[in-house]
Amino acid sequence: MKSTSKHIKGIITRCTNYKEADRIFTLISDSGIMNFIARGAKKPKSKLSGHIEPLNYVNLYYRPSKSLNSVSQVESINSFLEIKKEYNLILKAQYMMELSESLSSENEDNSYILSLLIKTLSNIHNSKIPNLDILIYEFEILKYQGFGIRLFDCTNCNKKLERAEHYFSSKAGGFYCGNCFDSKEIHYECIKVSIEQQLLLRTISRKKYMELANLDLREKEIDTCRKLIQNSVRDVIGVQLKTVNFSEL
Ligand SMILES: [Zn+2]
Repeated sequence: MKSTSKHIKGIITRCTNYKEADRIFTLISDSGIMNFIARGAKKPKSKLSGHIEPLNYVNLYYRPSKSLNSVSQVESINSFLEIKKEYNLILKAQYMMELSESLSSENEDNSYILSLLIKTLSNIHNSKIPNLDILIYEFEILKYQGFGIRLFDCTNCNKKLERAEHYFSSKAGGFYCGNCFDSKEIHYECIKVSIEQQLLLRTISRKKYMELANLDLREKEIDTCRKLIQNSVRDVIGVQLKTVNFSEL
């Protein structure tokens, strides 16, 4: 029985060649992670060629299948050429795509993650501090998936955190107050976080992105906050992402 054609939009995250002329690829779509085959896409005259590349935001028509959905038509909505011109930005984009993929599921509403990814990829080449855009992305995606970081009170005793350096534990999903930190054998799993770094995270959590410009942000502050979130991601998905080290370039 012939199945009817379906339509979907999404970002291609990975591609591999298959047999002589086909390409197999993974898409982050509104409906979660999906895998496709584009038959004949490697042939120079194919209408599919040129569109099926990693980091392309595409509009595609396909025939659903239990094994691999088969693409019949594809066009690029945004190829993110500004990112593809800069090696460092490509690595950052690869990391964000891997993070999105690891926190997305199959057959689930994924529209928030996709729109956040598109927004961040669209802005990053114009950003003064691309790592800040990535930090916001990491923070928001983790929160959306129900693994938000507790920033305002102690994860152990629930007391409000005073304005001071505090220790963060990805296992606890937040900070320890001074008393709890001193009384527990948890030093090995904690990262020391300065007042400025906590302020940065709190400003992001309140979505006061315009105020970030008023903070005295140095790369070190952003990098420590990113480290803390990456540890949380590692604990949530159970493995370290492959691209995590490259994204720091
Ligand atoms: Zn406490």
